[in-house]
Amino acid sequence: MSNDRPQKVRPRRGVMFVISSPSGAGKTTLCRRLISEVPGVQLSISATTRPARPGEADGSDYHFVSQDRFQEMIDRDEFLEWAQVFKNYYGTPRSEVEARLVAGTDVVFDVDWQGARALKTIRPGDVVSVFILPPSLAQLKQRLEGRPGASEKSVQSRLDGAGQDILRWGEYDYAIVNDNLDTAFTELRAILMTERNRRVRAS
Ligand code: ADP
Ligand code: 5GP
Repeated sequence: MSNDRPQKVRPRRGVMFVISSPSGAGKTTLCRRLISEVPGVQLSISATTRPARPGEADGSDYHFVSQDRFQEMIDRDEFLEWAQVFKNYYGTPRSEVEARLVAGTDVVFDVDWQGARALKTIRPGDVVSVFILPPSLAQLKQRLEGRPGASEKSVQSRLDGAGQDILRWGEYDYAIVNDNLDTAFTELRAILMTERNRRVRAS
């Protein structure tokens, strides 16, 4: 073997792994699995003004904040991006993102198309974006109805928004159909593993 190879593995910059889907297509499930099964990946916890669903915990699913606190965070420039989705506000806190990337930790962002677009604009070299598609609108409806805390009104407003979200899938680097969960997860993990090895990240 040649003896001119590097003595140390060069550190790489983390990937900003941005995942979007119409609500109910399974991105939270897929992101949580990625964080628990793949070492070196952490979730960006967003702030939101929407109330917690049954089973959701403050600080691990979202930072649940009041309208006033959210506005204060905007005024203090604490968000990398923020957007209004279904009458509620959601934002990605700046804190810790850059430090994690420099340390070579990948950060997963569960954001809508507005957030994905903003992050790609701010950090084009770091962002890898994936759109999760449901197998059909009928299955999307079933998944929304099966989610804890679902009401007829919340299901209908998410279904109404799904068409708008799906129109944007062409803006993403990758698209995955979440029919079988294990298959979709294997595909998602494979994308992250491949993107980790891009030569430009080893800088
Ligand atoms: P999102 O974060 O995109 O709104 P969730 O991850 O909350 O969606 O998933 C919505 C519901 O669908 C959850 O109850 C979840 O367990 C279920 N689900 C996710 N993926 C699948 C799948 N491949 N097959 C069947 N049910 C799924
Ligand atoms: P939910 O209320 O179902 O958890 O999320 C509704 C939508 O808001 C989802 O599409 C989710 O990806 C998006 N979202 C969650 N956090 C953020 C964020 O910080 N920024 C943006 N732009 N969208 C977010």
